[in-house]
Amino acid sequence: MPDLSGRHAFVTGAGSGIGRAISLRLAVDGAAVVCADLDPARAEHVAAEVAERGGRAEPLALDVSERDAVRDALQRSVDLIGGLDVVVNNAGVGGGLGWDRTTAVNLDGVYYGTSYGADLLARRGGGAIVNMASIAGLQGLVGSAATEELPDPDSGAGAYVAAKHGVVGITKQFALSYARHGVRVNAVCPGYIDTPMIEGITSVDAGRRFLESLHPMGRLGRPEEIAAAVAFLASDDAAFVTGVAFPVDGGYSAR
Ligand code: NAP
Repeated sequence: MPDLSGRHAFVTGAGSGIGRAISLRLAVDGAAVVCADLDPARAEHVAAEVAERGGRAEPLALDVSERDAVRDALQRSVDLIGGLDVVVNNAGVGGGLGWDRTTAVNLDGVYYGTSYGADLLARRGGGAIVNMASIAGLQGLVGSAATEELPDPDSGAGAYVAAKHGVVGITKQFALSYARHGVRVNAVCPGYIDTPMIEGITSVDAGRRFLESLHPMGRLGRPEEIAAAVAFLASDDAAFVTGVAFPVDGGYSAR
């Protein structure tokens, strides 16, 4: 198990799904955690869950699409938990919101968290950044049914895939720029993970079966399986790992 004793972590989108699992896992591994989320009540709930399990966490309300708010939240985290060594840019929205909001959260938000995060970590002596990309950062997404109907050109899939490819690009570039400044920057590329984000599909039997069928392992991933990869990349076990886009996808991207 990675050892994050004495480390300080900042996690966005911490109030639900993968971000919640990351917060709980980093705390179990020894880190103090700032749980940042758009929804302050959810951030508080997850911070309380961490505390119930014997860890240390502080909630923070944050919209990652707001540049100054991200910069201030990173700085504030240092005061809240006494340091900063790990930045996890996880917050994201699913498809269906159109280009502007999807890219504002999933791309701009990760850019702000990576650029301000890398600068702050480097000035503080180093650290690790983990960005949440997706298999949609490596490939396009296939729909469930071949249809003769024209697709909705602004359905959100194009924006989601573009944003996640951008996350992989941001990750590689900042990894190179900060490689000699003590900051490692990596991305995790999950397959479909059983969280509220994809409930619209998984709540229908045929939808769930379709998504499961896309993974050679024949199932969806669990948030804890993504959190384990994040904990590894955040820790010294990954001391020589930077600039990777790490698929955690039950074989999805191996085809
Ligand atoms: P989720 O359960 O919907 O959780 C996302 C969290 O991010 C929610 O608490 C959400 O708050 C928060 N959030 C949304 N917009 C935000 C913003 N502007 N600022 C701060 N927080 C914001 O989704 P998830 O499945 O855990 O997704 C987490 C990340 O994994 C995302 O980047 C997603 O793209 C990525 N991912 C997910 C899957 C999957 O299949 N689930 C696969 C690959 C990658 P609200 O609910 O209040 O909006």
